[in-house]
Amino acid sequence: MERTLSIIKPDAVSRGVMGKIISRFEAEGITIIAAKMVRLTKEEAMAFYAVHRDKPFYDSLTDFMSSGPIMVMVLEGQDVISRNRAIMGATNPKQAEAGTIRAEFGTDVEKNAVHGSDSPETATKEIAFFFSDYELVKMARP
Ligand code: UDP
Ligand code: MG
Repeated sequence: MERTLSIIKPDAVSRGVMGKIISRFEAEGITIIAAKMVRLTKEEAMAFYAVHRDKPFYDSLTDFMSSGPIMVMVLEGQDVISRNRAIMGATNPKQAEAGTIRAEFGTDVEKNAVHGSDSPETATKEIAFFFSDYELVKMARP
């Protein structure tokens, strides 16, 4: 079993497509074990995307990510990190395969509707950025 952090970005929240995006995960049999609405400050967005701090798009990206509410979720399932990346599609919606979330709901390379962790190490760090252990639902109960 794997876990990954998923974010529905401000563009998709403001366009009212959270439900449609969540439906994709449910249709794929992916389990949502945590979810909440968050409004990041510029500083929090900069911390979350610190790995990109030297990229030319860092300032604009962190402005965008702090421009409105986001929905953060923890997804759980077999190979869910790579499966989520496949369901999301390529970073640039114009290059994303038809039927992917970014192809359908993304606007441009920045406003691309969703985030997904890219490795187990990143997933652990990104989940801890937003959630405490007690917020992660244990699906099986003793
Ligand atoms: N991004 C951007 N311009 C670029 C590349 C990326 O604005 O040329 C933004 C975009 O929102 C992307 C995020 O920065 O989702 C993180 O970039 P990354 O390369 O990690 O892409 P991802 O893992 O989200 O597909
Ligand atoms: Mg990335």
